[in-house]
Amino acid sequence: MKEFDYIIIGGGCAGLSLAYELEINEKLKDKTLAIIEPRLEYKKDKTWSFWKVATHNFDDCVKKSWKNFSINIPNQTNYLECINYPYQSIDSGLFYEKINTKLKENKNIFFFKDVNEVNTKNSFIFNSVPSIKQDYRNLWQHFCGVEIETQNNFFDEEIFNLMDFDCDQRESVHFFYTLPYSKNTALIETTWLSKMNDSSQKDYDLQIKDYIENSLKLKNYKITYKEEGAIPLFYPTYEKEKNKINIGTAGGMTRLSTGYTFLNIQEHSKYICENFENITQTKKYKIDNKYQFLDEIFLRVLEKNPEKMPDIFFKMFKASPKTVIKFLSNKSNFFEDLSIIFKMPKLTFIKALFY
Ligand SMILES: Cc1cc2nc3c(=O)[nH]c(=O)nc-3n(C[C@H](O)[C@H](O)[C@H](O)COP(=O)(O)OP(=O)(O)OC[C@H]3O[C@@H](n4cnc5c(N)ncnc54)[C@H](O)[C@@H]3O)c2cc1C
Repeated sequence: MKEFDYIIIGGGCAGLSLAYELEINEKLKDKTLAIIEPRLEYKKDKTWSFWKVATHNFDDCVKKSWKNFSINIPNQTNYLECINYPYQSIDSGLFYEKINTKLKENKNIFFFKDVNEVNTKNSFIFNSVPSIKQDYRNLWQHFCGVEIETQNNFFDEEIFNLMDFDCDQRESVHFFYTLPYSKNTALIETTWLSKMNDSSQKDYDLQIKDYIENSLKLKNYKITYKEEGAIPLFYPTYEKEKNKINIGTAGGMTRLSTGYTFLNIQEHSKYICENFENITQTKKYKIDNKYQFLDEIFLRVLEKNPEKMPDIFFKMFKASPKTVIKFLSNKSNFFEDLSIIFKMPKLTFIKALFY
């Protein structure tokens, strides 16, 4: 079996982002890399969206970006601006194509379908396949989104809706998320924050149909694309090994209170690339401890008080949008953290500290 200097297990978002970062920084000129990815073909399977608080390599894969957004609870809407940090949506189809085209130019990069096809013994491994123990106590963000095309112009393409809580909550946390790509196309997603064993929330198609036809009051439309997924709101098991680093979801790159992962993956890739020659001695990259601590409390509140969450999210966005965006994107300073914390219901959060 062939040996390689480096192996990336999983050629999804994190694996390919890392390989691309290494390639464009010429780290693989005299080193060999194997990428292990079982999928038979790459096609669009996700839409990655985030506030652009840092630079990344994929501006040319952005499908649309917005400088305005809204959040609403029944009878109240808050309109907000994000001029400094536009919200971007990346088309995964364009992302996969761009990276794979670039990687194929390098004869030192090899592709395999199964890790058993290569000898891993003497290689340094970047692993993006998470080890997730099915535990009924764990919270997930699970969702289903459809892209629709309407017969007539319907959407205001200048403003997206981050969270619409004016929907059936079923004693859980539920909202709709709408990204209007143009006046007659949009991604509409039903999103739940709950335990995965609750199958009563999985009638996604019905929820979306009801939202489009009865809440948005839209009749003439067709579905052109569908995506479904679940993001763990807990860290997958991470076994420390000398010659292995976990990346992506497996590497703890998800911000647990929001599910945002894409930009953290890009920052992790840059960190690995900068420290590549000394990777075995490099400190583990992680989301700042303060966010891990605050998110843990936030999720405890969410678990115990799902009915309070629409209000809590709504109130959070009463702080300056720039501050909230920085906080949710791991870029806030101490004073900005405090201004968010002060927007939260104190007693509920203090109680959660002692659960
Ligand atoms: C539908 C969806 C939408 C999302 N939207 C957003 C968003 O808008 N913003 C955001 O920040 N985050 C979003 N996320 C979260 C996160 O950004 C993505 O999950 C992202 O793809 C995580 O990257 P990853 O490399 O860790 O995992 P993946 O991209 O899933 O890559 C893992 C790869 O490993 C491969 N694999 C599986 N088993 C094996 C095996 N045994 N051996 C080798 N390879 C294997 C898989 O085929 C896959 O290609 C979304 C997630 C989903 C599921």
